[in-house]
Amino acid sequence: MSHVFPRHCHATQPTVARGDGAYLIDTAGKRYLDGSGGAAVSCLGHSDADVTDAIRAQLDKVAFAHTGFMTSEPAERLADLLIAHAPAGLDRVYFVSGGSEAMEAALKLARQYMIETGQPQRHRVIARRQSYHGNTLGALATGGNLWRREPFAPMMIETSHIAPCYAYRGQQDGESEEAYGLRVADELEAEIQRLGADQVMAFVAEPVVGATSGAVPPVTGYFRRIREICDRHGVLLILDEVMCGMGRTGTLFACEQDGIAPDITAIAKGLGAGYQPVGAMLCTGTIYDAISGGSGFFQHGHTYIGHPVATAAALAVLTKLTDGGMAARAARVGRTLRAALEDRFAQHPHVGDIRGRGMFLGLEIVEDRETKTPFAPDRQVAKHLKARAFEAGLICYPMGGTIDGRQGAHVLLAPPFILSNDQVGELVDKLSTAMDAVL
Ligand code: PLP
Repeated sequence: MSHVFPRHCHATQPTVARGDGAYLIDTAGKRYLDGSGGAAVSCLGHSDADVTDAIRAQLDKVAFAHTGFMTSEPAERLADLLIAHAPAGLDRVYFVSGGSEAMEAALKLARQYMIETGQPQRHRVIARRQSYHGNTLGALATGGNLWRREPFAPMMIETSHIAPCYAYRGQQDGESEEAYGLRVADELEAEIQRLGADQVMAFVAEPVVGATSGAVPPVTGYFRRIREICDRHGVLLILDEVMCGMGRTGTLFACEQDGIAPDITAIAKGLGAGYQPVGAMLCTGTIYDAISGGSGFFQHGHTYIGHPVATAAALAVLTKLTDGGMAARAARVGRTLRAALEDRFAQHPHVGDIRGRGMFLGLEIVEDRETKTPFAPDRQVAKHLKARAFEAGLICYPMGGTIDGRQGAHVLLAPPFILSNDQVGELVDKLSTAMDAVL
């Protein structure tokens, strides 16, 4: 009997033995093509020698020094490289161990900024329905995923949730994409006014929505309007790039493609590429200066912030994404993958939408393409697709979500950027096998 406490108590899982490029191999020798990088993590695949060498080299020097006493070379170099490639204005990096921690740090920094700048009444957070920002209590409260939130609702900070920018579901007949984007962005202004602008601390959003919706990109102009509204009301814009950042969409930060920069952003997953648990929160110089020139102390921290081995791994990953051209490769291979998906599934009776950016793509699964009606919840489409794909040797990320009170389903694809053309074909074939078995 295993003493590991798994999330799914009754699931029987194979044991992973090793990684080989885009594949994971279990102890029985079965190979699985990692079509979702786990959960959009393994952007460089599973056997990148540059990253493992960097980890070994750092271990040979020193594994751990508490940041309460010392900084480390890899943390300093990683922060410099991140800021060199970050959206304009971002100037400081706070390292953590994962995405939820990065979001908690972002929320607490936003709150402390308001206190330090003489606006202590500002504490309200506005986010969007169909969003996920992590599983710790602050991040969970911010997310709009009802199923994940429900049991913990009594323990949560109050958050307002406005409409997501989800053109497939929200754009009305006869409405242009631009008009739709402005209409949903303006819900933010209405909510700020309803709460009272002097109460609102931050607006939180994923630039491209991942787990809850399946790689839903914003329409052009949406985030520019959001930025304007935040600026007009002194509300901080926190972008959660935990899933869509680090080259996943074809640019290092997803928001680059929307022509805006946040006040605070959270990254993780692709930053360590699965080789080490590491995340980061980046903030503007203005925010940092307010803390530095005020109390001089960020009232937040964890034991493992700025871990030397984790940051050494991330430095090797980031070097490959930037100087090594891997983020640009994600844009290129992403186009090939998207074309292959469209070729195979554009006319599929149960594929309502194929969307995304770069190597962050999603298929929305519907019962009826014309009416966009989702399958009934008892069909458990996402669960069965995941199981059949896994049987076929493909790891992908089907999820259910709530759409207009009914259970919807999508398949999220986020493979390693190293995928070859043959592997693109293999992914689409195996997904097709799973779809044929379930739909
Ligand atoms: N934010 C987003 C957008 C995510 O997709 C996730 C995880 O899936 C998180 C935050 C939480 O990250 P972690 O699971 O590393 O805590």
